[in-house]
Amino acid sequence: MIKTQLYIDGQWRAPLENASREIVNPALEEVIAQAAEGTRADARLAIAAARAAFDGPWRQSTIRERAKLLNRIAELVDRDADELARLESLNTGKTLTESKTDMGDIAATFRYFAGLVAAESGAVNEAPHHVISRTLREPVGVCGLITPWNYPLLQAAWKIAPALGAGNTVIIKPSNLTPLTTWHFTRLIDELGLPPGVFNLVSGGAEVGAELAESRDVDLVSFTGGAVAGESIMKAATGNFKRIGLELGGKNPNIVFADADLDAAVDYALNAAFFHAGQVCSAGSRLMIEDSIYDEFVARLAARLPRIVIGNGFHAETQMGPVQSAHQHEKILGLVQAGIAEGARLVYGGKRPAGEVYARGFWLEPTLLADVRPDMRIAKEEIFGPVITAERFVSEEEALRAANDTPYGLAAAVWTRDLDKANRMSRALRFGTVWVNDYHPYFPEAPWGGYKASGIGRELARIGLDEYTELKHSYINLAPKAMGWFGA
Ligand code: NAD
Repeated sequence: MIKTQLYIDGQWRAPLENASREIVNPALEEVIAQAAEGTRADARLAIAAARAAFDGPWRQSTIRERAKLLNRIAELVDRDADELARLESLNTGKTLTESKTDMGDIAATFRYFAGLVAAESGAVNEAPHHVISRTLREPVGVCGLITPWNYPLLQAAWKIAPALGAGNTVIIKPSNLTPLTTWHFTRLIDELGLPPGVFNLVSGGAEVGAELAESRDVDLVSFTGGAVAGESIMKAATGNFKRIGLELGGKNPNIVFADADLDAAVDYALNAAFFHAGQVCSAGSRLMIEDSIYDEFVARLAARLPRIVIGNGFHAETQMGPVQSAHQHEKILGLVQAGIAEGARLVYGGKRPAGEVYARGFWLEPTLLADVRPDMRIAKEEIFGPVITAERFVSEEEALRAANDTPYGLAAAVWTRDLDKANRMSRALRFGTVWVNDYHPYFPEAPWGGYKASGIGRELARIGLDEYTELKHSYINLAPKAMGWFGA
């Protein structure tokens, strides 16, 4: 049985209250680990260590050293990719193929930021000849990083790589449902012999996150998770006006026009909704289909759903694993029932699959609800499970209005062969990412984040590094002369 610890000031240690939490495999409902459950007091120790490291030796680290560090982390992630992927699948339920993809993306993220950091340099500004005026990028300071349970290590990597690369010190708090890969990652960091306090792990629940958000010794908090926690973090962060980055939920429309390549659109609609059992912030659970192809499209989807292989993520034939927790399982079933009560038509799924093998674990059939209207709860709220809702639209204007009529703005997709329409829709959709004739691609070079209630700030890309820096104007007068402005 795995037993995890906290990592504070370069030392592995038990939480002050010595508490632990059982970590459960969602496919079998078996306890797979005892995870250290830290409290506010542990978070305070980690913050103090990170503060001391930032104000001490880490300030002297050079761009070259930090770029090398990120490349070294990428090598270690590659070295342990199989073990990390195994832990991720064991803890989240996602297929091993998906977890292996995550590990490749994580190594790529560290390499990408290594390249950016290495290329970093201050700009020299135009100024009188006796003056050196430079614009410098400096680290923000102590960063509290709070991550969710759906992409535990990938979301952590999007924060850790730029934070360390820019010269900050960090305290990472993974979701207390899925701490295992972040813990193993911390073992890799421990191999590197960084100055104590540069990297700290405090696993635990919301109170640890709240301490990071509230502490006046934390300069930046970056959070990925739900809107409720996001709001409370934003309020807590006002204490010292700390920097915040919020990556929140989404209600992501996948809009199919009649002139689209329907074979591809059907295929991607399934991928958009059922990848990681729909537990993706950018999941395309809200399918919007043009009236003239609506019935055919729904029928084609319905024909594919029974063929999706549901099972343990470790079995090679599995296409979709369970959802992560009993809580999610209940919540998703509740939303499906709410949709039916509001008049949606259940075309397929909506329940636990039949059979002995699905009696334990948090299993759900892939679910399709048709005849959904924009005013229904299932068309408005994030479902975060293996559910597609199908809405009908008649005109481009109607599709656009309905798609934008959501508090969220994370991602959207448009399917059409008409380039004009693709361009118009891409410009008019108020979402941080708009895919045309595709779904789900993201990579370190492109920014990720949301409009409106989907968040504040961006991760990845150049801006993903800039979020972890302060900008300083350094002005050096090499030949000061008395001005005699006052009382001369
Ligand atoms: P959550 O908000 O319940 O928890 C996220 C993290 O915040 C966990 O580590 C949790 O312990 C911590 N936390 C909870 N309450 C807190 C508080 N008051 N103060 C500080 N920390 C607190 O979210 P979740 O259920 O783990 O993740 C699912 C959500 O994350 C979904 O809404 C999903 O859309 C979103 N998400 C967004 C992105 C993105 O890139 N925009 C990516 C992945 C997930």
